[in-house]
Amino acid sequence: MSITKGLPASFGAESYDAIVVGAGFAGAVCARMLAEACGTKVAVIERRNHIAGNAYDCYDEAGVLVHQYGPHIYHTTNDRVHQFLSRFTEWLPYEHKVLANIHGELMPVPFNHKSLKMAFGEERGEYLYQKLVATFGENKKVPIMELRKKNDPDLTEVADYVYENVFLYYTMKQWGKTPDQIDPSITGRVPVFVGDDDRYFPTAPHQGMPAEGYTKLFERLLDHDLIDVFLGTDVRDVLQIKGDLIYVCDHPYGGEVIYTGQLDELFDLDLGALPYRTLDMQFETLQQDQFQPVATVNYTTTEDFTRITEFKLMTGQELPGVTTIMREYSKAYEPESGQTPYYAILEDETQALYQRYRERVDGILNFHCVGRLAEYRYYDMDGVVASALDLSDEIISSNG
Ligand SMILES: Cc1cc2nc3c(=O)[nH]c(=O)nc-3n(C[C@H](O)[C@H](O)[C@H](O)COP(=O)(O)OP(=O)(O)OC[C@H]3O[C@@H](n4cnc5c(N)ncnc54)[C@H](O)[C@@H]3O)c2cc1C
Repeated sequence: MSITKGLPASFGAESYDAIVVGAGFAGAVCARMLAEACGTKVAVIERRNHIAGNAYDCYDEAGVLVHQYGPHIYHTTNDRVHQFLSRFTEWLPYEHKVLANIHGELMPVPFNHKSLKMAFGEERGEYLYQKLVATFGENKKVPIMELRKKNDPDLTEVADYVYENVFLYYTMKQWGKTPDQIDPSITGRVPVFVGDDDRYFPTAPHQGMPAEGYTKLFERLLDHDLIDVFLGTDVRDVLQIKGDLIYVCDHPYGGEVIYTGQLDELFDLDLGALPYRTLDMQFETLQQDQFQPVATVNYTTTEDFTRITEFKLMTGQELPGVTTIMREYSKAYEPESGQTPYYAILEDETQALYQRYRERVDGILNFHCVGRLAEYRYYDMDGVVASALDLSDEIISSNG
């Protein structure tokens, strides 16, 4: 692999069988698969000055390994994804647990046996818990909509508490909405866990953190003789779609193009911008061993930020006397502003707009969209890797 900052004047697209736009999980997995499986020479073009996309991590000035674009916790039920990624990293054991700060008290979420007793007091909490067990059975995740359907005042009380104290204000902050703008079908899906397990991903057989961090994982993933990475280069400076043809450096390009950026940007937003939420992440280094009991605390009833992450508690890094935390403030994304588009706003209108952009490229057989931006959807990392593996399989088999 070579990594070059900027695209050299000598760059010749014709010397590459494939161009991958974006060095996040979607792009890097495709680049590796194509290079390995059929000797494809791949140019990876990345706008940022680093690889790893939103999973990028680095050491801050205090020596703490931080996730620059928000905390990333690896978890998957997909064996193929896990086997593939495990070629490029060892894993540190880590099981994610989240607490909600509810008016100053830290309660496990999803709301469980312990949270019930904290919220309603030992006796009443136990009574409500036993009622949940009798109604739904133990170790079940029950959406609050199901609690309400029972028309039982005790179960409705639990549903109302969780709605008000865990869901409502947090969701308003996250999506910038008023209560009446919040889709009732989403509200109803908020779960209560009838049990004591306080792990956030209790059913994922594979979970943990890459032993040396995500960026190291990506260095190994992209480390192949047939892969060249060009950083700090916006592909729109060299690639355009004209009708059914892809042009690179003003010449028609017949190789495969794997695109993991925003589709609206590729067409200069000419049908309108696809909306996103962005995050303002405020990092703070503190001269103390530890700030909070678990890696993530959600602020669900107070504060303007949505959550605080303490990185050392996720990565297991031993660094006495110092720790770095990060507060996340959610706000509307402004297109072409240099902000990071984090969460697609998935509504009927925005999906329809995405489809109109998508129709422009669907007929171009050597142009492939994959990943959270190009597909305009939310993906966890394992989902993106699974899609990138599937797309690579398709391209490999069609190239014989
Ligand atoms: C705050 C937050 C927390 C998350 N936490 C988790 C978690 O705990 N666990 C989990 O599994 N998933 C998590 N995710 C999801 C995870 O970030 C995504 O699944 C993953 O990053 C998607 O990979 P990708 O390659 O599709 O996109 P990205 O990682 O965004 O990569 C796309 C790359 O394309 C580049 N690019 C875009 N346009 C251009 C252009 N015109 N020219 C050149 N390059 C371009 C971008 O710079 C970027 O590097 C989280 C997401 C967010 C927003």
